[in-house]
Amino acid sequence: MNIDLDAALIALQNKQKKESPWDDAALHVSDLALCKRQVWARRNGVTESYIDLDNWVQMQLGLKYEEIVCAALDAKGVKYEYQVPVKDPIFGHKLIGTADFVFEDAVLDTKTTTFWSGYVGKGDERRKQVKIPEEPKMGYRIQAAAYAIALGKPRYGLQVVCRASGKRVTFWYETAGLASVIGKAVVDMQTTTTSDPEPIEAKPPWYTEDADGKSWQCGYCPYAACESNRNESLQVL
Ligand code: SF4
Repeated sequence: MNIDLDAALIALQNKQKKESPWDDAALHVSDLALCKRQVWARRNGVTESYIDLDNWVQMQLGLKYEEIVCAALDAKGVKYEYQVPVKDPIFGHKLIGTADFVFEDAVLDTKTTTFWSGYVGKGDERRKQVKIPEEPKMGYRIQAAAYAIALGKPRYGLQVVCRASGKRVTFWYETAGLASVIGKAVVDMQTTTTSDPEPIEAKPPWYTEDADGKSWQCGYCPYAACESNRNESLQVL
């Protein structure tokens, strides 16, 4: 049998992309945690969103994990809606996005990631330890809170699960604490990324910076023309 597996996989990816509500020109809830210049480049067709195999597989893993959460909620008889699209404008602007789980008074987002792990102790005491974060990343919080505000829920939660260890942690917050931050981000993002000129400020949000003040976003950013770009996969060999 002679199967063109590459062609079959590309066809599947294209089908999923076509069925997805994603639109490069639109403003997305996930954009609220990104660099304005990076969002400007995508919305104006300077870059185009591209999902490589690593990201694609990770997305499938995230969806699989959501199915597990659905099964757990169903088994407990909890009422919820799954994958609810944002329809109404938020702070006066249209945003595209889909909330993972919506309950009567809250929204829950799940995130699959990797927690820090390493060895502690010496000799016979030496053992591997996984560090469960005390707080989720601020970028995660902003996205989940934006979904809750858009869907009129006063609370939002995040369940963060570690792919490597299987450990997980769930956080719950009130939306009121981030409403003004999100309102400002929505208006700022919408007014600076729709068209020319390119945003002067090439500065990803502070909550994506490492201890040395550099953002991980610049290591993955598709906008090669930016002087801060550190994405090695964009280098021409
Ligand atoms: S390289 Fe960094 S600063 Fe420049 S557009 Fe990309 S994310 Fe923004």
